Amino acid sequence: MLNLIIFGPPGAGKGTQSEKIIDRYQLVHIATGDLLRAERKAGTVLGNEANEYISRGELVPDSVVVGMVRNFMSSHAGAGGFIFDGFPRTIPQAEALDAMLLEFNTAISAVLGLEVVEDELVKRLMLRGQTSGRVDDQDEDTIRNRFREYQNKTLPLQGYYSEQGKYQSVQGIGEIDEIFTNLCACIDTVKS
Ligand code: ADP
Repeated sequence: MLNLIIFGPPGAGKGTQSEKIIDRYQLVHIATGDLLRAERKAGTVLGNEANEYISRGELVPDSVVVGMVRNFMSSHAGAGGFIFDGFPRTIPQAEALDAMLLEFNTAISAVLGLEVVEDELVKRLMLRGQTSGRVDDQDEDTIRNRFREYQNKTLPLQGYYSEQGKYQSVQGIGEIDEIFTNLCACIDTVKS
């Protein structure tokens, strides 16, 4: 199985590049942000609870997202591989993911980190907020809070996966296709 994590701060282009990667490598996309928004749209208890965190720019509790990922993976048991987008976002989530993959007799193949400077990210998110309708993209304080959460809780994952020899960093500014080509070069080195 080819299991990838697309890593990077909010607005780095994880969703855009994931779409292209799943097409080329026939992977199943797991985007926890999308799953949480779908729960909210469906009006579930989980969705309403999660929305309170999301609208403040805070991370949703680990137990909630880990449970959601577990359900998703169980319902896609025949998949040839997954790309995780927006997950894991904390060390406990990463540990839970490693344990889950082990249950499925597999592991993470590579972590692809998109490098983009913060000023560019704020610009992209404010622009996205004009069309996406996402409340968390429309307010600069909420956006800054998401970056703080990223710095404090998510960035330590670089060390976690570097220690496993799985972290690869890719420039996230430039033409979408050029970034995709660089990502594919990384993926092809780990693809068996
Ligand atoms: P972005 O990467 O642009 O911040 P996402 O759609 O990935 O967008 O996430 C939106 C929000 O959903 C996050 O700010 C957070 O509140 C919540 N969320 C998504 N994934 C996770 C996760 N793995 N752990 C905790 N919260 C999450």
